[in-house]
Amino acid sequence: MSAVLTSHAFASDVDGIRFWQDPEKTRIVFDLSDDVKYKIFTLTNPSRLVIDIQQTTLKTDLSKIELPESLVSQIRNSNKSGNLRVVIDLKKSVSTKDFTLKPFQKYGHRLVVDLKPKGSKKKVVKTVENRNKNANRDIVVVIDAGHGGEDPGAPGGEKGVCLAVAKKLARLINKEKGMKAVLTRKADYYVGLVKRTEIARKNKADLFISLHADGFTDKRVRGTSVWVLSPKGANSEMGRWLEQKEKASDLAGGVDISHQDPLVAQVLLDLSMHYSVGESFKAGELVRKQLAGSMSKMHGKDIKKAAFVVLKMPDIPAMLVEMGFISNRAENKQLKSSKHQNKIAKSVLTGVKNYFSANPPDGTNYRAVAKAAAKVKAHKVRSGDTLSQIAQNNGISTSRLRSHNQLKSDRLRIGQVIRIPGV
Ligand SMILES: [Zn+2]
Repeated sequence: MSAVLTSHAFASDVDGIRFWQDPEKTRIVFDLSDDVKYKIFTLTNPSRLVIDIQQTTLKTDLSKIELPESLVSQIRNSNKSGNLRVVIDLKKSVSTKDFTLKPFQKYGHRLVVDLKPKGSKKKVVKTVENRNKNANRDIVVVIDAGHGGEDPGAPGGEKGVCLAVAKKLARLINKEKGMKAVLTRKADYYVGLVKRTEIARKNKADLFISLHADGFTDKRVRGTSVWVLSPKGANSEMGRWLEQKEKASDLAGGVDISHQDPLVAQVLLDLSMHYSVGESFKAGELVRKQLAGSMSKMHGKDIKKAAFVVLKMPDIPAMLVEMGFISNRAENKQLKSSKHQNKIAKSVLTGVKNYFSANPPDGTNYRAVAKAAAKVKAHKVRSGDTLSQIAQNNGISTSRLRSHNQLKSDRLRIGQVIRIPGV
């Protein structure tokens, strides 16, 4: 008996197939015109993955898809009675996980399949307590570029800006003596929130900095902000956001109720459970100070005044920097300029250095390293340099720099050597 397919309650198109490669898995995303019914299974000898999607037409050219060479050798398709079969020939056997996603921003319905090569062991996450306290180790700063892959963040390009600044900041940190940067993601792929904190722990982070850019419906809203939260603060803030979000027009009050990004709220909650709130506050304040000096506008109150209650001292200080509003036309332009990205990275770096100079972590002698570096540090004046800018770049006041160099005025000449005192 042959099955007669009568009216199609649903019929969908595959408009695109995208591969995302992260260090542990390969993600395949099918862009669909509608919700679908599907089945996924693997076959061996040779290894292949079969994806059957009911009542669906392939509307994309498979030969044009960039395949992750280490895992996939070929992708092909067939169609039977209106049902699409996509076969992916694999170089290794894999375990799979699949789910669908509803339309979000520029993305429509999607089917996601994650492939993990079999036999790839899950690494044991060591806690920070295992750190060798005697070693003269480098300070580890974990830099977390928000969003990525299928999660674009705020409309207007948040995920890309986060990654660009994260990379710049990592480069600056790695140039510093006694400091080392670790990125939670190095390219455009999604890293789960728990995974981000696991990366911080595995690398025995001394500080965790999550980089984001705000988005809001009112395009006029702009400014940079630095966030740290305590568990109690997080809960009450969350409650407040949710409450206030309903009264969407209320933009006053300093608290960033404008944040439409549930991910950020979740990141903050997650971070706050694990990380030292007191230290986060100190570090966040120093970073904010630098940003306030270099950004044209800050958004919200100084974190000093935020009424977050410190309930416990978990293990890694953490902060979240909202670098600006990507929804604001002027700030969107800035956030995408390499020059402005460098400015943000430099300000954060200076804040971080100031924090660690005052609070060198166990097992490091950062204070001495910073001092030694500062001793030999000098700046040769170039065209366009100002004393206040040199001071700011080095995290010290102009008056201190002036007196350290016994300058009678702030006028500089090109080629002049300005000695930088230790912070
Ligand atoms: Zn974000």
